[in-house]
Amino acid sequence: MPADPADLLRQRGLRVTAQRLAVLRAVSRAPHATADAVSETVRAEVGSISLQAVYDALGALVDADLVRRIQPAGSAARFEARVTDNHHHLVCRDCGQTVDVDCAVGDAPCLAPESAAGYVVDEAEITFWGRCPDCAADTTRN
Ligand SMILES: [Zn+2]
Ligand SMILES: [Zn+2]
Ligand SMILES: [Zn+2]
Repeated sequence: MPADPADLLRQRGLRVTAQRLAVLRAVSRAPHATADAVSETVRAEVGSISLQAVYDALGALVDADLVRRIQPAGSAARFEARVTDNHHHLVCRDCGQTVDVDCAVGDAPCLAPESAAGYVVDEAEITFWGRCPDCAADTTRN
């Protein structure tokens, strides 16, 4: 992420507002946060902001390709500022903790279907599911 997020917003034609800057910073600092978590961080920084305003800012940043939205099945949407590569995610089935895993190929789509049925494929959405080290060590859950 370049030094000045305000420049990033301007480059993408977005009006620079304190709320958008705070949302972008919050997502950069805490990847894979839910909108709720982002709004808590932003509130601590800029004072009162409605959840709707956070959703609006996230939506604008996603549309401008400054923020990526991921939504593992059964989970709330999560947001991250790592948008420049095709990477995947490991999600813990028990606690929902999400971490990045680099793509072995790097470019989307990194998996080709056996038969594309005439479709022009541009993405393979890959999520790895399992248990994080903490949950795997917690035998009381088993
Ligand atoms: Zn876990
Ligand atoms: Zn990620
Ligand atoms: Zn991949």
